[in-house]
Amino acid sequence: MSVVHNRHRIPCPHCGETARIRKSQGLTPIYREALIECRNDACGWRGKVSIEITHTIAPSDRPNPAVTLPLVPRLLKLAGSRKAKANA
Ligand SMILES: [Zn+2]
Repeated sequence: MSVVHNRHRIPCPHCGETARIRKSQGLTPIYREALIECRNDACGWRGKVSIEITHTIAPSDRPNPAVTLPLVPRLLKLAGSRKAKANA
């Protein structure tokens, strides 16, 4: 049985080695940028990544009024069909 690690791994776009995130900075509650560095000394690539939160899967019980995120489309459909299924 293998253990699934939920760590964020981003491969170097050039050599495919796992890259390491050096420094990340939140610019807004839903957007952050980070510096990324390839672990392969023979490659030496460095770059920048951005992480944007795009959708809500489960709503917060302590919502931030400044943050509005759309529900994932699949869930909107589920919410709409749940009633129909419960009655079936
Ligand atoms: Zn590389």
